[in-house]
Amino acid sequence: MRELGIQDHNAAWSTGLEWGGADNKNTRTIHSPADGQVIGTVAMATAEDYEAVVAKAQEAFKTWRTVPAPKRGEIVRQIGNKLRDYKDALGKLVSYEMGKILQEGLGEVQEMIDICDFAVGLSRQLHGLTMHSERPAHRMYEQYHPLGVVGIISAFNFPVAVWSWNAMLAAVCGDTCIWKPSEKTPLTGVAVQHIIKDVLKDNDLPEGIFNLIIGDAEIGAKMAADGRVPLVSATGSTRMGKKVGEAVGARLGKSLLELGGNNAIILTEHADLGIALPGIVFGAVGTCGQRCTSTRRLIIHDSIYDDVKARLLKIYPNLPIGHPLQDGTLVGPLIDQDSVNGFKSALAAVQKEGGKLLIGGEVLEGDKYATGTYVTPAIVEAQNEYATVQDETFAPILYLIKYSGEVTAAIDLQNGVRQGLSSSIFTLNMREAETFLSYGGSDCGIANVNIGTSGAEIGGAFGGEKETGGGRESGSDAWKVYMRRQTNTINYSTTLPLAQGIKFDV
Ligand code: NAD
Repeated sequence: MRELGIQDHNAAWSTGLEWGGADNKNTRTIHSPADGQVIGTVAMATAEDYEAVVAKAQEAFKTWRTVPAPKRGEIVRQIGNKLRDYKDALGKLVSYEMGKILQEGLGEVQEMIDICDFAVGLSRQLHGLTMHSERPAHRMYEQYHPLGVVGIISAFNFPVAVWSWNAMLAAVCGDTCIWKPSEKTPLTGVAVQHIIKDVLKDNDLPEGIFNLIIGDAEIGAKMAADGRVPLVSATGSTRMGKKVGEAVGARLGKSLLELGGNNAIILTEHADLGIALPGIVFGAVGTCGQRCTSTRRLIIHDSIYDDVKARLLKIYPNLPIGHPLQDGTLVGPLIDQDSVNGFKSALAAVQKEGGKLLIGGEVLEGDKYATGTYVTPAIVEAQNEYATVQDETFAPILYLIKYSGEVTAAIDLQNGVRQGLSSSIFTLNMREAETFLSYGGSDCGIANVNIGTSGAEIGGAFGGEKETGGGRESGSDAWKVYMRRQTNTINYSTTLPLAQGIKFDV
């Protein structure tokens, strides 16, 4: 990984500050979940490091907000091109550090490139509306101004793409960013920081526009409580989101929360199983079940239940599980031992509640799987109301749930969880599809027809309702959260008519 500049990993790079360094005793060694090899060691930031990074970001904001938005877009265009140059190396590092298969690692970097392109176009479209004033010779309009320093807290499973969804939009909006990647996957963050620092240098721009800070929950909590950070965008578990949301709310800041999902696919009696099955299997076992949009529940009409179950039980024994960088692998490892324990305890708990384990659930052994993080994806027959089914287990467990009667019964089950991220229906029946998409249909931020729950295009606003946190990022008009809206009224008359016809003679 020399070409990514992470060979000097003892001094994790941050805004040109070589913090930590040789004297820092608080380091973290990162092992690949694929083969247990040490990839690198990072110095964890101290409270003083945090202060220095915030000061740097605040200082850079004073310059960055004066750069015209389309010129900010030009910098993002250059970042996109640099990412193109490093796509293979960075994609490989994503795969090796996180454990997702190479194609997904490359796909993640492609998403970064795509959001750069999107943000470049957006940099010329940060427009507000004009309104008709109720007073003569007055003009009213609204404009969007840069907000300030944006804190980005990201999760391990999309170690770099989530940062870019936030940072590239924030950048064209004129904000500076402080990124705290997951402590489980900091090296991809260091690599990205090296890539973009060259772009800033080439353009004589302050390095504090994009900042990286390596730390754990403590540094994230500092950011959440910090009034100098007007927006905190946090991606991760609902447990984390509740804490961050509360801390940001207590100081009346803005938060953008992208939290856990408990996503379901509905298969009606009118489903085309030829397209449904690949969507289900990819959603349930892809990224080893470690996507926020992974398919956790399959809600199946009773008329096709046995057929679907039999077909899945034929597919699962042949899933290629192995090293994520190896050709042909479709299922890599879980991120760490804690995650394996979570997988095992969820399976034990659901069986205690009455669930029936149909296949999978083993931890693989042998030389190829020496890390102890490779598992066989599980299928469990269950009831929607089981406590285990109501929770998100971040591992490859697919719950089969039967429904009878109309599609509304399936929709009730689909909505009958605390989370509201992604949902999908497979049907060729127009009434069923439209009911699912209607006001009485899916209550999720994402609702798909004849496509699975997993994966999303960057052009749409991404996020979910209920305990998923309500935030939206990436495409559509998600940019608005990174700016402050100002309403302006201008009087070009010779009098001062007050609003609502009020007379105030002085
Ligand atoms: P996590 O909640 O353990 O950690 C996520 C990030 O939050 C890390 O950077 C961590 O250091 C930080 N953090 C933890 N506690 C904190 C606190 N009290 N204050 C501030 N920061 C804190 O999540 P994870 O295990 O890395 O990721 C898996 C979870 O992320 C799953 O629940 C998944 O569904 C969710 N996720 C959601 C989305 C989405 O867009 N909705 C995307 C990816 C992942």
